[in-house]
Amino acid sequence: MPQGPCAKAHAPKASQKAKAQIPKASPQAQAGAPREPAPKASPEAQAGAPREPAPKASPDAHAPPLSRRTLLTAATAATAAVTAAACGPSTPTPPTAAFLGPDPAQAHRLRDGGWPQGPVSRDIRTQIAIVGGGVAGLAAAWRLRLAGHDDFQLLELEPELGGTARGGQLPRSPHPLGAHYLPSPHPECQALERLLAELGIIVGRDAQGRAEYLPSAIVAAPTERHQVGLLWREGLYPDDGETPEEAEQWARWRAHLQALDRRRGADGRRLFRLPVAHSSNELRHLDTLSFATYLDKLGLTSERLRWAIDYACRDDYGCTTAQTSAFAGLHHFLARGLEDSREGHTLTWPEGNARLVRGLAERAELGDRLSLATAVTAIDPDAGHLEICRLTTRERARIHADAILWAAPRFVLPRVLPPGRDPLPHGALGYAPWLVASVELRTRPRGVGAPLAWDNVPIAGRGLGYVLATHTEDRGLHGAGAVVTYYEPMPGADAAELAAQRSRLLAGDLEHWQGHVRDALTAMHPDIARELVRIHITRWGHAMIRPVPGLLFGPALTRARAAIGRVQPCAADVAGLPLFEEAFYGGVLAAEAALRQLGRDEPSIVEA
Ligand SMILES: Cc1cc2nc3c(=O)[nH]c(=O)nc-3n(C[C@H](O)[C@H](O)[C@H](O)COP(=O)(O)OP(=O)(O)OC[C@H]3O[C@@H](n4cnc5c(N)ncnc54)[C@H](O)[C@@H]3O)c2cc1C
Repeated sequence: MPQGPCAKAHAPKASQKAKAQIPKASPQAQAGAPREPAPKASPEAQAGAPREPAPKASPDAHAPPLSRRTLLTAATAATAAVTAAACGPSTPTPPTAAFLGPDPAQAHRLRDGGWPQGPVSRDIRTQIAIVGGGVAGLAAAWRLRLAGHDDFQLLELEPELGGTARGGQLPRSPHPLGAHYLPSPHPECQALERLLAELGIIVGRDAQGRAEYLPSAIVAAPTERHQVGLLWREGLYPDDGETPEEAEQWARWRAHLQALDRRRGADGRRLFRLPVAHSSNELRHLDTLSFATYLDKLGLTSERLRWAIDYACRDDYGCTTAQTSAFAGLHHFLARGLEDSREGHTLTWPEGNARLVRGLAERAELGDRLSLATAVTAIDPDAGHLEICRLTTRERARIHADAILWAAPRFVLPRVLPPGRDPLPHGALGYAPWLVASVELRTRPRGVGAPLAWDNVPIAGRGLGYVLATHTEDRGLHGAGAVVTYYEPMPGADAAELAAQRSRLLAGDLEHWQGHVRDALTAMHPDIARELVRIHITRWGHAMIRPVPGLLFGPALTRARAAIGRVQPCAADVAGLPLFEEAFYGGVLAAEAALRQLGRDEPSIVEA
């Protein structure tokens, strides 16, 4: 859920209002048909898994730091009215529920050594092996095909492509399982613009040469609203009752961003760019500070402003401002150019970034170069051998490759390398867990105040609210009901807290998380329980790399990115930022490096 720096109540961010049709469900999404309608008890449930422990007293486990007392007064009347309305007679049919997305048991087999052993049944020869069919792996395949190179194999653990950008399908609408939007790129991101043009998302150029986007891909107004008590207001800055001092701080924050946006480094580069490695050197030292400390130093102490900025970090990185580096925090606001100094758009689809995944896969023409439900279980980085296991048949094979593009998460790599071969110390990279739930509703969510928007965010609570998957559809054509996707990051101050959050995420069974999601939605809409039809829950144990202070330009990431023999890591996590753009550039650049290694003199499509 994006947030522009200037997304105050009166300044919603999407500048173009457009109606859209629903894209068809992707083949991947269809292939990923939910384990439904039978809401089987998970193994955890059968084993009598513990219910969610009471929230810990850590600051991260609590609601963001905005004091509710400051903001609740104005909302009291609305709260009373809605609560009264919610107390009417109701006989809701209980919703069905299913877990979707990666199966933790499958992923943990690499850690626990649960793959079949013994001789391989056959040997396969390829020039380039790509491990991982998320955005990075698909971008690598797309780049190889662009170069006319088709001697590669793409191996994906899951039965579907997409990784954290996968989509799902409810009867009412497709929906995201993770990533759900892409900000329109800065014009200097020519490689990404090229992809978007190939996918028909960029449809032309205006007189100034700026990209023009397919109207249906641009999020339609109203784009964002926030909730204080039960009262909804436009935008993502809780400005109701703002004091002159708070207004001054808001204006100062805007002016600060505008000045940084105009500034260029001594190297002539913009200060914050995508990929982040192309940013100017000028302000890289800010990576060693936390964003919270940076804001303190600027004297930006307004609770409202700090809530809005904290929300942006939790949303983009699954971290609080105290856990995010100042460079990464500013990068969120400035890397694509400051929103109000360019015609920026938020691009989204009902199935989220799964739409981009489908487009990449189609353009890469994978055919028999793709193996789904195939785990890479061991790699000899010097010989270029990969051992693979097909999950359905349990058949094992060995692939011989000249180059191996590791587009799977970096923390998995030491599990498949020979012992002692990974130069990266264990635990050097941290990942935030996330809970995501898509919910089919009988009616569109209501509320007092600002109308239902694409992005609907409560200022209280651990979750980030919900995005409306059915936002852009023509209501006349699609009838009643809606699908919303609820997002909840699970931040932690250190490795121990993150491990505890991850255990909590995986220990909860379907009934537990179904209740959790229902409660979170009920806190926003007291009468919503009777509207729930189906719930799809995805647990991401290692959802997002955390750009903590010192990561982006520090030694850990340098090591994480370095080639190991023939293996080149290239997923978004080795860039340090959990973004579509980083995965895309990681895959493209790794593919180009592999082509060079094979003696192909292919000019890079990536801008310097
Ligand atoms: C909840 C959530 C919301 C997000 N929202 C956004 C958003 O709105 N916009 C945005 O830009 N970004 C968002 N992101 C981040 C974005 O999804 C990622 O940065 C990007 O898609 C990562 O792609 P990737 O290919 O680098 O890695 P991944 O998506 O992690 O893909 C890696 C792939 O490798 C596979 N794999 C792992 N091990 C093996 C093995 N041993 N053998 C074979 N295959 C293996 C995995 O199954 C997976 O498919 C979000 C992420 C999450 C979790």
